[in-house]
Amino acid sequence: MIERYSRQILFDGIGEEGQRRLLGSRAVIIGCGALGTAQAEALARAGVGRLRIVDRDFVEASNLQRQTMFTEQDARERLPKAVACVNHLALINSEIDAESLIADVNYSNVESIIEGCDVVMDGTDNFATRYLINDACVKHGINWVYGAAVGSYGVTMTVRPEVSPCLRCIFEEAPPAASAPTCDTAGVIMPVISVVAAVQVSEALKLLTGRVEHLHRSLMQFDVWNNEWRRIKLSERSPDCPTCVLHRYEMLDAETGDFVTALCGRDAVQVNPRRLAQVDLPALAKRLSAAGEVQLNPYLLRLRAGPYELTIFKDARAIIRGTDDVPTARSLYAKYVGT
Ligand SMILES: [Zn+2]
Repeated sequence: MIERYSRQILFDGIGEEGQRRLLGSRAVIIGCGALGTAQAEALARAGVGRLRIVDRDFVEASNLQRQTMFTEQDARERLPKAVACVNHLALINSEIDAESLIADVNYSNVESIIEGCDVVMDGTDNFATRYLINDACVKHGINWVYGAAVGSYGVTMTVRPEVSPCLRCIFEEAPPAASAPTCDTAGVIMPVISVVAAVQVSEALKLLTGRVEHLHRSLMQFDVWNNEWRRIKLSERSPDCPTCVLHRYEMLDAETGDFVTALCGRDAVQVNPRRLAQVDLPALAKRLSAAGEVQLNPYLLRLRAGPYELTIFKDARAIIRGTDDVPTARSLYAKYVGT
């Protein structure tokens, strides 16, 4: 241990005691895209003892420009991102315990996903999931680190329930979809991801080693193209915050959520059936072989049918590419997977 982590132990802020704490800690990373892979690699190298990597998607060629952990082979094999990430983590640090979870995070599973962890890292790409994480973390008193990046701009803040403002204290409502730039319209460059993830991971290390006096306590914003760096100090919680003051967990309790959602910048729609189901992928592959070209790996099945490409996971979730139209996606799902 001393050898592997020696440079980090030499660093005053961590030391032997801090390292021992990191090895005994558990972090959950929700969303394993650009931010999530950067966080996962850094936390694994730092020796955070247990990592849970959660993601709903699979690796594609268009990810490789910024999702630094993935390789062309991951994209060719269409590995689920959580699985590909954990495979690489095992090569980076075999002494920690990293677990993959292929799942869409929603009201029904978010609390069990974060249960027992010391910190939750935001690697998602949408406000709906962030509000859900905020609800669940405030409810269970778990620290979490918000982060987002689009274009050359990035932002991050750290939420400590009962201590600091929460996400809804700062952003009471999600920005309207049409007004906020998304990866659909703006794209994103890797350097801003590196900056945001670096600050997020630094905050996680401070939280996990108990050095909370070093937390930045602000909304940090960066624009690496226009050379702007801003830090807005955060002090009080909003006196009527529904989440952290009134303890109304609206996102958790709504028991709704978009079970059919268009995916950011993908020309794709995710269909997530409400009923719990297990799909026998090899049997489905056989049944669909007449409908188009089928490719199967242990985690998912891909069907190319005309202009569409359906990726079906074991839990009956599907990502349908070639359309961003929800009704079209629903009918394709009904046709090939069932209702
Ligand atoms: Zn709040």
